[in-house]
Amino acid sequence: MTDTPRRRSIVRRSPVPGSVSSPVVTPLFSSVVYRSVDADQMDAQYEGRSAGFTYSREGHPNAALVADRLAWMEGAGHGVMTASGMAAVSAVFLGLLRAGDHVVAGNQLYGRSLRLLNQDLPRLGFETTLVDTSDAGAVAAAVRPETRMILAEVVSNPTLRVADMPAIADIAGRRGLLLVVDNTFTTPLGYRPLDHGADVVIHSVTKLLGGHSDVLAGFAAARDVEHARALEDAVVSWGLTASPWDCWLAERGLHTFELRYERACRNAKALCDHLRGLPGVKRVVYPGEPDHPDAALCERVLGGRNGNMVSFEIEGGRAQANALLRNAGGIAFAPTLGDVSTTLSHPVTSSHREVSGQARRALGITEGFFRLSVGVEDVELLKEELSSAVAAALEAGRA
Ligand SMILES: *Cc1c(COP(=O)(O)O)cnc(C)c1O
Repeated sequence: MTDTPRRRSIVRRSPVPGSVSSPVVTPLFSSVVYRSVDADQMDAQYEGRSAGFTYSREGHPNAALVADRLAWMEGAGHGVMTASGMAAVSAVFLGLLRAGDHVVAGNQLYGRSLRLLNQDLPRLGFETTLVDTSDAGAVAAAVRPETRMILAEVVSNPTLRVADMPAIADIAGRRGLLLVVDNTFTTPLGYRPLDHGADVVIHSVTKLLGGHSDVLAGFAAARDVEHARALEDAVVSWGLTASPWDCWLAERGLHTFELRYERACRNAKALCDHLRGLPGVKRVVYPGEPDHPDAALCERVLGGRNGNMVSFEIEGGRAQANALLRNAGGIAFAPTLGDVSTTLSHPVTSSHREVSGQARRALGITEGFFRLSVGVEDVELLKEELSSAVAAALEAGRA
């Protein structure tokens, strides 16, 4: 008998070549679909008897790997990657609320979170109340019988106010409310919400965790397995899944996260001290400093892990602000935070442009108010650049 050679087709995929050695770097699994052997195997996968991926919106190796690592960092049993930080915020609302529920949230949350709370949730039948989370009394007073959730950020942007997390966790615990913490600013190295009574932790992985401004991704994890499942279902059903490529980049960024974070925090404290000595600087805000408005809370909540964000205010208006930004050397004026390189933000024209002038003044956000997201550069370079920038602003004020 002669073997008829099997036809080959350029259309058909070939199996990945075998190798007794394995790649050191995680491969990028760009496949949207996974091939199962037969109907029994497909059944086993969907019924959870066999582990296996089927369709990448429902999960893929790059997301599973990063989610597992972030869950470990946050002390959570299980977490899920999302397409952005806002997708994580959305997953929390979509997965854990029912129509008619009321949400109490910080009034200085990330701008888009505030917009969801102010505009989108009410449109969908949820009520919301925004309060100053550094004031536990205000949080307690906002709770109603139908309140289901408290959403807080530990350190606010850009005024770097610190939420009274112990008191908020106590309120949530006593009233049986879900406490959700957006831990983007603090990171698991600064604060681990689930260790302190929170039920859910979320992140914009885009910021410090990814760390290189080249990936948009988010993460959500819960202490309770039912909540974790609800979050994952929300991500899969509403299509909030992170792409393999973004997860691959997030994983790469995470490898250096500890090193970057420690260096950036050290730089931030040094720049806080440096800025205080510069003529024309009216005030500097950094958690952990004796003149911080929540100094006692900083110590209790952050325990000396004060982060990489420093805000400061200079004398003058728009002309001085422009002069500072134009003369900041390699420090990019960009609306983000957590990049490996230092960035400057001007809240009046970016994060707080939708906020009324009166509300901004109440927060102390003037034309001369800036927020630094401190990176890992040589701190002497950063000091030089900030000295020149502030001197240029002072000069513009004299002209
Ligand atoms: C940036 C940010 C978000 C949104 O994250 P994206 O990845 O941009 O969607 C949410 N919360 C906080 C605190 C943030 O800084």
